[in-house]
Amino acid sequence: MRRAIISDIHGNLEALDTVLSDIETQGVDEIYCLGDIIGYGPNPRECIDRVIEHCRVTLLGNHDQGAMFDPDGFNVGAERAIFWTRAQLESPSDREGNERRWEFLGELPRAHKQPPYLFVHGSPRNPLSEYIFPEDIYDHRKLGRVFQLVDRYCFQGHTHVPGVFTENFQFFAPEEIDHEYALGDGKLMINVGSVGQPRDGDPRACYVILEDEGPESQSPRITYRRVPYDFETTIQKIHAIPDLEPYLGDRLRQGR
Ligand code: ZN
Repeated sequence: MRRAIISDIHGNLEALDTVLSDIETQGVDEIYCLGDIIGYGPNPRECIDRVIEHCRVTLLGNHDQGAMFDPDGFNVGAERAIFWTRAQLESPSDREGNERRWEFLGELPRAHKQPPYLFVHGSPRNPLSEYIFPEDIYDHRKLGRVFQLVDRYCFQGHTHVPGVFTENFQFFAPEEIDHEYALGDGKLMINVGSVGQPRDGDPRACYVILEDEGPESQSPRITYRRVPYDFETTIQKIHAIPDLEPYLGDRLRQGR
């Protein structure tokens, strides 16, 4: 079985379409999405439609939830973007499509368990909102507690920083492991990075291929894929929408 695992699309249609095209070249059986389809980016409706069409499992992200309910804990720019996103999803010009999108968002689960895998947006302890950052390897108390809730392998997003956490407090960025990792015996948390707003200094869209039960692979393996996309088009769209602050576009150039 080959799965593509994507996360944190954030309304960036150029990134999502480029990633979906790349996934088509990878012989993938199923696509999973770990949440934050919307928020920040200029194409929330189109991104939800793509996810409905292509993904077999989709989780709720904190920005998806923020668009449906009262957003809580977001900075000013992010909150304005959420209210603008909500307005797009309430626009009467596409009533039927928007009803379908609301219904889809309203039914998204916060976690998906499929042994030996757990899938969440944030963390096993707080699937929607907790951030597990690379620097948390120095907070043994926090990471130890979180790992207690992981049976074997947990896939997550939310920080937009891809990499592999081991239970003995190591973190490997994709470039440190040649973009590949055999999952092996210990527990792991695997951040799949962000499709639509990478924040590890690499502006290319990021996602993961998970391969298991293959004839040549004893233990499951992951591969990080980085895909260049036309972020100048996304930036232009963001700059043309007054409710989306310009930095939400500018940061796409830096991957920050
Ligand atoms: Zn996100």
